[in-house]
Amino acid sequence: MARRLGITGGIGSGKTTVCRIFRVLGVPVFVADVAARQLMNNDPSIRSEINEIAGKDLYEGGELDRRELARLIFNEPDMLQKVNASVHPAVLREFEAWSSAIDAPYVIMEAAILFEARADRLVDRVISISAPVEERISRVMGRSEISREEVLERINNQMEDNEREEQSYYVINNADNEMIIPEILKIHGDMLRLAAKER
Ligand code: ATP
Repeated sequence: MARRLGITGGIGSGKTTVCRIFRVLGVPVFVADVAARQLMNNDPSIRSEINEIAGKDLYEGGELDRRELARLIFNEPDMLQKVNASVHPAVLREFEAWSSAIDAPYVIMEAAILFEARADRLVDRVISISAPVEERISRVMGRSEISREEVLERINNQMEDNEREEQSYYVINNADNEMIIPEILKIHGDMLRLAAKER
């Protein structure tokens, strides 16, 4: 079975950018956020659990009304935990099934909340991507219509970089002036060696 590498980091840290480079190297990438969205839209039992948690039908337009769910969660924070308790295990099962079926030396799971969702238990090693807060703010503001305060609020709601770093096998510092490709190539070599080893 393929070895597994987790990639995590806060908003604007550069997870997607780093994964893009791994993809060029031929490594299959599972994006937890995309899987979560798909499951919330399409999995019948998750759909009914979400409606039960919300106390109303959030699928009148066919897909999940994410804006309404966010509004409900804003007024009742416990709801987020309940939704997560329904969606996270399903995402992990999906990753298990996906990675077991792939013929590759190793695969990647990208997840901002890798540790929070306890996905670290499913991977051999984790890379934590870090970057200075000010650079993350300007990156996120540069890619979407969002205020500085909103980005800061999201950053403050997430785990701190050093907390993720302490639990990670690798740390990539993705500040604007850093050369990340050599580090990625080194990790890629490590993972190929790990994959070649007997278990
Ligand atoms: P999110 O969790 O919010 O999706 P992310 O960690 O996946 O974020 P990316 O989407 O990879 O982050 O990067 C955020 C933005 O910053 C992108 O527009 C990307 O092009 C840019 N960016 C990433 N790394 C760097 C870098 N080293 N220098 C300059 N810009 C960068």
